[in-house]
Amino acid sequence: MSETIFTKIISREIPADIIYEDDMALAFKDINPQAPVHFLVIPKKPIATINDISEDDRLVVGHLSFVAAKLATEMGFAEEGYRTVMNCNEFGGQTVYHIHLHVLAKKLMGWPPYTNKAKALE
Ligand code: AMP
Repeated sequence: MSETIFTKIISREIPADIIYEDDMALAFKDINPQAPVHFLVIPKKPIATINDISEDDRLVVGHLSFVAAKLATEMGFAEEGYRTVMNCNEFGGQTVYHIHLHVLAKKLMGWPPYTNKAKALE
């Protein structure tokens, strides 16, 4: 498994604004926020993409959503709502190959999520 910027955040080789940590997961603020609140919940185990999730990983991957909801409640935006996203590979817009759950809040989200550029490629 190759190192990514996120494995270096887990090992504290590079700094991040960490907001939560437990034995399975870490959450930190996104460096390029797309909403007033934007943080990432990642597993400590490096899993490159959603496609690489094994049966043994199901607990840890489910835990990412649990942590997202726990933090949403603690940060006071659970009831008004928020967006969670996990991008996969090129067409999903993934840039860091260590799975991560984006949590975006305090901004009214639209749907569908694709850009006009993506729509034009159809
Ligand atoms: P994705 O495009 O779904 O792979 O998302 C990767 C996310 O990681 C992007 O939203 C980046 O802004 C974010 N990111 C990249 N490097 C860092 C970093 N050092 N600290 C915090 N967030 C980062």
